[in-house]
Amino acid sequence: MPTPKRKKRDPWSFEKEIKKTGRRYSKNIFIALAIMLGAVMLFDKTGLISFNDLKGGGAKSETLQVHFVDVGQGDCELIIIGDDAMLIDAGEKENGASVYKYMTDYGVKKLDYVIATHPHSDHIGGIPAAIKNMSVDTFIIPDIAEKYIPTTLAYSNLIDAIDESNAKLEYAEVSKVYELGEAKFTILAPSTDDASDTTNLNNYSVVILLEYGDNKFLFTGDAEKKEENDINKTFNLPKVDVLKCGHHGSNTSTSQAFLDIIQPDYAVIECGADNSYGHPSSDIIDRIAKYTNKIYRTDLNGNIIISSNGKDISVKTEKGNK
Ligand SMILES: [Zn+2]
Repeated sequence: MPTPKRKKRDPWSFEKEIKKTGRRYSKNIFIALAIMLGAVMLFDKTGLISFNDLKGGGAKSETLQVHFVDVGQGDCELIIIGDDAMLIDAGEKENGASVYKYMTDYGVKKLDYVIATHPHSDHIGGIPAAIKNMSVDTFIIPDIAEKYIPTTLAYSNLIDAIDESNAKLEYAEVSKVYELGEAKFTILAPSTDDASDTTNLNNYSVVILLEYGDNKFLFTGDAEKKEENDINKTFNLPKVDVLKCGHHGSNTSTSQAFLDIIQPDYAVIECGADNSYGHPSSDIIDRIAKYTNKIYRTDLNGNIIISSNGKDISVKTEKGNK
């Protein structure tokens, strides 16, 4: 059984080493920037970490595109800004090839980050095929307690794919900030010091807040109420522009307490048409509707692209009226 910590070394890839050495400089600059950005993310009076808008926010020259790729009953998000790109999940195994095609159709040739939110097949199953012919810089996965590491084929295929990619592997670390082009994202969860409810892999989902200028996007994987509460205990979350609803719009997630804080202007639910789980829950739709009527669903709208210039949000969908 392969373990995620394993990392293959290829002594003959001289070219790759040069590339990596070259990258080291930019990595140092990146670390310095991350520290500066971290300083902007201040503790407030309650001891929670707050997000203050960066100076120089507002409209920017690049467009940030967030694609909610329709993979049926599963999750897949592709984020593109300039020459930088990040993939979050890639649906089931059978979706991998079409996710790869989708990325190349949008000119993505390399991925700066791939986030495998949590080891369920409707999220990670497609990742190996999606990235097989892509160069990946960094993989981010949750740090799952040894005894709960799944023995599924989907998970071992993911670990093999990470190995073969020669990408850097990082375990999600709460509060860590990464740069993606002119945007940045912060890891909000999972907290690894909380050992309760660890049998539920949904609550290991890597949750991130992506910020670009004044705009904020929250990606929750399949996080349930427990993980949402954990986030609220650590962060004083801001109002967000776009929420990727947790767990395909299931009533396990998108709790009232969480919504009261983040008050999304747009909500996206990724689920399959006529799925056997009854996703999304009508209760969740009603709950979100108190904040916004801009609810987009991959089962109804197909691929959904939400763009930001750092100030304004625009939405394009493959089908449907919205
Ligand atoms: Zn799922």
